[in-house]
Amino acid sequence: MNPTQPTQFWTEADSSSSCDVLVIGSGAGGAPTAALLAEAGFDVIVVEEGKWVEQGSVAPFSLEQMDQQYRSGGVTVALGLPSIAYTEGRCAGGGTEVNSGLYRRPPGEVIERWRDRWQINELDPDSLLSIATEVEQAIHVTPLPGPASKPSELLRRGAESLGWQFDESPRWMKYPNNDVRQGQRQSMTRTYLPRAAQSGARILTNCRVNKLHMKNTSATSAEVTLGTGKTARISFKYVFVCGGAIQTPAILQRSGLHKNIGNSLAVHPTVKLAARFSEAINIPDDVPVHQVKEFAPDLSFGGSASHAGLMALALLDQWSQFGSAIEQWRNMAIYYAAITSVGRGRVISVPGLKDPIVTYRLTRRDRELLRSGLSRLSLLMLEAGATEVFPSFRDAPIVRGRNDLTQLQNSFNAMKASVMSVHLCSTVAMGENRALCGADSFGKIHDTHNVYVNDASLLPDAPGVNPQASVMAIAIRNIRHFISHEKRNV
Ligand SMILES: Cc1cc2nc3c(=O)[nH]c(=O)nc-3n(C[C@H](O)[C@H](O)[C@H](O)COP(=O)(O)OP(=O)(O)OC[C@H]3O[C@@H](n4cnc5c(N)ncnc54)[C@H](O)[C@@H]3O)c2cc1C
Repeated sequence: MNPTQPTQFWTEADSSSSCDVLVIGSGAGGAPTAALLAEAGFDVIVVEEGKWVEQGSVAPFSLEQMDQQYRSGGVTVALGLPSIAYTEGRCAGGGTEVNSGLYRRPPGEVIERWRDRWQINELDPDSLLSIATEVEQAIHVTPLPGPASKPSELLRRGAESLGWQFDESPRWMKYPNNDVRQGQRQSMTRTYLPRAAQSGARILTNCRVNKLHMKNTSATSAEVTLGTGKTARISFKYVFVCGGAIQTPAILQRSGLHKNIGNSLAVHPTVKLAARFSEAINIPDDVPVHQVKEFAPDLSFGGSASHAGLMALALLDQWSQFGSAIEQWRNMAIYYAAITSVGRGRVISVPGLKDPIVTYRLTRRDRELLRSGLSRLSLLMLEAGATEVFPSFRDAPIVRGRNDLTQLQNSFNAMKASVMSVHLCSTVAMGENRALCGADSFGKIHDTHNVYVNDASLLPDAPGVNPQASVMAIAIRNIRHFISHEKRNV
């Protein structure tokens, strides 16, 4: 078997199947869950709503990629004042196939906060970080083998000039011939999903779980819709819901599970700007690896994908003033300011609607942090040598020097900005604090017998760093606990 291809075991004639463990979703949480279970001898079926798309078969950040690997073509929004645009991967491997691959360990103080406030049993920083070390080997986390791209070096230059802390984020990449331009992302379709398949897990792509059938406090089967539109049923002894922080609570709510499910969405909201330099610096198909951490964890700065289409989007809020700059997009790059928000959002499944309604409420403190973040990011870009900075909000001024920063500060209003997020978590917080948590200390939904969550939903709040490492380390911790306790029962 080609280890990079799933076993498509389902035929049109099948209307039911069964397994020990059903894993819903194949992203950063679902893929290691399936691999470790299969390797421990469990009979596993993985159901993934999206298709299996080989890495490299679609151009990064292209419309084709949006169509094939993102939910709703990448156009999804959390309603609020302001609304926050967010994106979710929808393909085998989930978000790990489309993300930037920037790796950050969960900070020790964050793990301690989660343990203490949410009352998570047996969560200790040392053992979680030793799992993180394993993850780093499994997905090949490494620094760049050569110099960083120009947009990345500009971040570094700006930070150095201001005396601000910065570092290079390693990535889950392999670099054939040590060529920084040939990086191959070590996503789940390259790592944990082939491992799961090699140990006998059956991976069914292009298949959506609609809901779980509950009998008292146990789930007995899942209703699924195959790619053909046909409905079928998969029965199981245990189910792990790993659909990501938006879809997991929606699946649980559709199944009748509501207590502390979906009412505590946490994200890292970002605002952005486009910076123009006097020479060509744009790298259309990659993102900077440097991040500026002077004001972390509240505020971090980094670089975004910057091809011409995304550049046009970054200028769109003030197109009448900024639009002509697009002609020089090769001299430009997009940068972001990300905040650790204390606001929260909700995921609400509505009968008859396929997708849930998502809302998010930024607090006054969050909105002020976005203002100061965009202002400081503009200063950083000026120090990096930008000739002009174009902040992404309606009525924004063009910033050409430090004197323009006051006008930026005064005219900024989060309501006028394009706020977005790709880091979504915390909709089914784990722990024994029943006032806050939907799941127990190892991801089992409270008051159920066999329904588990094992994805970004479990993180009690936003970690303040890129979250995939936290999602994977917690998922592996939980699944090991499950295996050690349940192996004898199947
Ligand atoms: C554009 C982008 C850039 C990012 N950059 C970074 C980065 O650089 N570093 C970092 O650490 N993090 C990054 N992230 C975040 C990271 O990808 C996520 O934190 C991580 O993937 C979350 O894992 P998960 O398992 O919770 O969900 P996902 O990885 O999203 O996986 C969920 C899977 O479940 C499937 N699914 C959902 N509902 C159903 C259903 N009903 N039936 C069947 N299947 C279903 C989905 O199709 C999806 O494949 C980024 C995310 C995005 C979108």
